[in-house]
Parts: sequence; structure tokens; C-alpha cells
Amino acid sequence: MHWENWYGNQRCSPDHVVAPRSEEEVAEAVIAACARGRTVRPAGSGHSNVPLVPTDGTVLDLQRLTGLVAVDAATRQVTVRAGTRIRDLGPMLWEHGLSLTNQGDIDGQQIAGAIATGTHGTGIGLGSLSSALLGARIVRADGTVATVDLSTPDELRAARTSLGALGVLTELTLQVSAAYALVAQLEPCSWDELMVGWRERLRQHRHFLFYWFPSEAAARAWFHHDPPLRADSVLVRTMDPAHPGTPSEDGDRRRGPAFQVFADPSEPDFHELEFMVPIERAEEALGELREMLLSAHPGHALPLEVRFVAADDAFLSPFAGRASCSISVSGVLGEDNATVFADCERVFARYDGRPHWGKWHPYDAAELERLYPDLDRFRKVREELDPGGTFTNPYLGALLDRAREGAAR
Ligand SMILES: Cc1cc2nc3c(=O)[nH]c(=O)nc-3n(C[C@H](O)[C@H](O)[C@H](O)COP(=O)(O)OP(=O)(O)OC[C@H]3O[C@@H](n4cnc5c(N)ncnc54)[C@H](O)[C@@H]3O)c2cc1C
Repeated sequence: MHWENWYGNQRCSPDHVVAPRSEEEVAEAVIAACARGRTVRPAGSGHSNVPLVPTDGTVLDLQRLTGLVAVDAATRQVTVRAGTRIRDLGPMLWEHGLSLTNQGDIDGQQIAGAIATGTHGTGIGLGSLSSALLGARIVRADGTVATVDLSTPDELRAARTSLGALGVLTELTLQVSAAYALVAQLEPCSWDELMVGWRERLRQHRHFLFYWFPSEAAARAWFHHDPPLRADSVLVRTMDPAHPGTPSEDGDRRRGPAFQVFADPSEPDFHELEFMVPIERAEEALGELREMLLSAHPGHALPLEVRFVAADDAFLSPFAGRASCSISVSGVLGEDNATVFADCERVFARYDGRPHWGKWHPYDAAELERLYPDLDRFRKVREELDPGGTFTNPYLGALLDRAREGAAR
């Protein structure tokens, strides 16, 4: 048996790969794995580039567990099966006059996989996808189903960013929004222009992000702009509500149903790390990062992407308790990015940057305890839902287990 992630940088040879079509089949696969004394890892569409999934036990591939289960148009709450891809969910919700409140740069992830790592888009008034989770059904090691919702606040706060460490989510209830269309606009400017009044622009637009190009090569890497973008310049992307009309694309402007506008049409290949710093310290952190890259890595060949996310309350959310500026640094696949990434991490560490769970970072439980004041509350829910340690692997053990227990699981 073989499993590998979307990047191809994480692989494993599990004794079983099972693709269940129902919650009952999930429970059967989990019970069978436990009977063999093996661990279980749920897998989404494999877009995380760190070893969250690899196991020599059972990989549960959830791609067949799809579709809408229930829609309450009045409260704008929907229940969806875990393996539904975000790109399929958009049109399903649209038919009911609904939309996800926010989305990220791609839509190939499964909804449970995206929520498990705190996947986010941009918009200072808008939370990550995890913050939309109102309830879930979770298959446990003995095959029973735990129901978490607003009446079980600690379990819900744990399930909102679970890393697949609590059990297998089979159905997720989400708060969504009334259907809306967006017009997206790209606007080039210099770094100095951006720094004047960017917070005002952040407040004005429903979604606001920017790319910064440390070099000429970075300016050419993803955007074919006319006139060409220059080194140390910026491209601002805004997205604002628009009248739904005929979807259109015209140079720097794109309009259509929100689910068609959020995602890039392509899923680019790159190594990436992403850290979230408190929004109050955004300018300071960005300024230091920019100076470091221009002086130590002047040829850095890919853009940085900078986004903004509202605070939420999930125990392991990178946005827990603090509105954040997310800064993502990409490196060319196949090149050695270790030095530039390590230099960036040192800057992020000075700003208490919390890493994206689905992207590369060097942290273990000791650092994460400092960054996540509620890590122990997550551990308590994990003990309650998975007392035997079925839903783990060595990578998760290093992240989540108390330092002294590290070797035990
Ligand atoms: C090109 C690219 C662009 C990206 N853009 C963004 C972006 O804009 N914003 C952002 O925040 N992130 C982004 N990411 C990161 C991505 O959203 C996360 O890594 C996300 O977790 C991937 O979802 P997935 O379905 O592929 O899950 P996987 O990577 O397969 O799994 C992620 C985690 O979810 C768990 N899991 C999956 N299904 C279940 C389930 N049913 N029950 C319990 N646990 C489960 C797994 O065990 C694992 O721990 C991007 C990644 C790529 C490759």
C-alpha cells in the first residue's frame, strides 16, 4: 500500500488505505485498525506539505465521503460530509443561495482537511474556515460517534483545528453566508506607497492582501503584468462585493460568484512556510523581514504573500485570541531553501509568529506550549476522545505530546 501527498514530499507505506463511502465504513475501518493494534490517520486531499498523515497503520482517504447533508437557509447553516472539496462545495451552496464566508488561494482541499489545519483566506473582519465550524460528528477509536457542537464548547474549540488528532470527522456543520459575488482587482504600487495608509485600505475592502516581490525574478514568477513589475514592488489584491452579473475577466479585474473568484485557477508548486504575527506588530515584522531578505537574499525568486485574518477561539488556531497578519514565504521547488527559511523563521520568532499547521516549520511541543496558551485544554479533549492514542503518528507526537511523554505514544 502507498500514500503520498499532493506535493509528493510526504509518502508512507501503510498496511491499509481505506476509502470509506459512509460513516459506518469509517467506523469499521477504525475498529479493524485498532484490532490489529495499528494507528489511523485521516487524509484529505494531501495539500499539507508536512507529515500530518503518514503512518504504517491505516490511512483513511476521505475523498468518497462527499456531499451536502442538510441546509438551513434561514440560519445559513449547512452540514457537509468531510471529504467534500471546497471547489465542489461552492456550487452546491450557490444553488441554495449560500456561500462560504471566506476562502483561501486554492479550492482543492477537502473541507475537513482545510479546517483541521486552520486554513484561511484574507479579510480583517473574517475568520479562518475553522471559525465557521459549529459542530461535527467524530468517529472514535471504538467506532462510536462523538457529537460536538455549541453545547460542548471545549470539544468544539478543539475540533475547530484538530490536526486529525481527535478522531475522524465525518460531517461538519458550518456557518455560511448569503450568496455573494465578488470583483477582484490587482493594483501595483511601491513598498513606500503601500505603507502609507494600508490599514485604512484593509478596513475599506472586504478582502485585502498583497504580494511583495523581493527581486525582479520574484516579480515575474507568478504575474505577467504590463508594464512589468519591478523588484521591491508590491501588487495589492482586493476583493469586494459586486452585483452578480456575467462572470468576466479583464486584465487586472475579475468578477463572478465568490467561489469562482477566490481561488487561483492554477495550484502552483512551491515550498512554503507561513507564520501569523499579531496584527499590531505587522509593519514592524514586515519591515524587518523585507530588510533581511533584501540584504541577505537579494535574489529570492518568489513573491511573499501577506494576508489578514480575524481572531478566533479554537485552542490550536494560529489566530486564537489575536487578529493576525499572515506572511507566507515561498521557495522554488527542487532548490535548497533551508537558509532563507531559517532566516525568516528567526524574524517570525521575534514576533511570536505561529506557524501554519499545514506548512513547514521547525517547532515542537516546547515552542508550541509557549505560543498556544490553550494547548493543555486541547490535550484534555484529545485524552477524552482518543484515550488510547489511535489517531497519531510520530510527527503529531512531537507537536502535541507533553515533552516528558514524547517517547510514550
Ligand atoms: C498550492 C497550495 C495553496 C494553499 N493555499 C492556502 C491558503 O490560501 N490558505 C491556507 O490557510 N492554507 C493554504 N494551503 C494549505 C492547505 O489549505 C492545508 O494544508 C490544508 O490542511 C489542506 O487540506 P487537505 O484536504 O489537503 O488536507 P490534508 O493535507 O490531507 O490533511 C490535513 C490535516 O487534516 C486532517 N484531516 C483530513 N480529513 C480529516 C477528517 N475527515 N477528520 C479529521 N482530520 C482530517 C489530516 O489528518 C491532517 O492532519 C495551501 C496548500 C497548497 C498546496
